[in-house]
Amino acid sequence: MAKSKYILHQCAYCHKQTKMELVGGMQNEGASEPPQKVWYRCTRCKHSALLDAVTVQKEKNGNVVKIDRSECLEYSKEKVYALGQSIYHAGLDDVGKVIKKDKTSNGVHSITVSFEKLGERKLIENVPVDTTAELAAS
Ligand SMILES: [Zn+2]
Repeated sequence: MAKSKYILHQCAYCHKQTKMELVGGMQNEGASEPPQKVWYRCTRCKHSALLDAVTVQKEKNGNVVKIDRSECLEYSKEKVYALGQSIYHAGLDDVGKVIKKDKTSNGVHSITVSFEKLGERKLIENVPVDTTAELAAS
């Protein structure tokens, strides 16, 4: 991940795109989830703005390569996905790529998907079908 402290953002005070400096994210050290909100300060007028991390991420990767929906596997929690796999999530109506795979201490498999519209989302995978049926019934 890029460590750049600066982004170009539309400043509400300058009414133009300015260089903004990262002043801090609402994140605890060692937290697994990326911060949802981050503070940026306009280097021109010095006003601070609380920006959505997802928005910032999108602006950083200005020309993101569009994911071809026809190449995506439909997401289903019973399936197992590979790193880099393109998936389509019907519930979220978004496409993304698997960027991380994990297994929690209680044995739940998860994937982190970087969605085009929604940003990073953690989803579960490899859920035994029986468990799903039980959960649905209860
Ligand atoms: Zn400004």
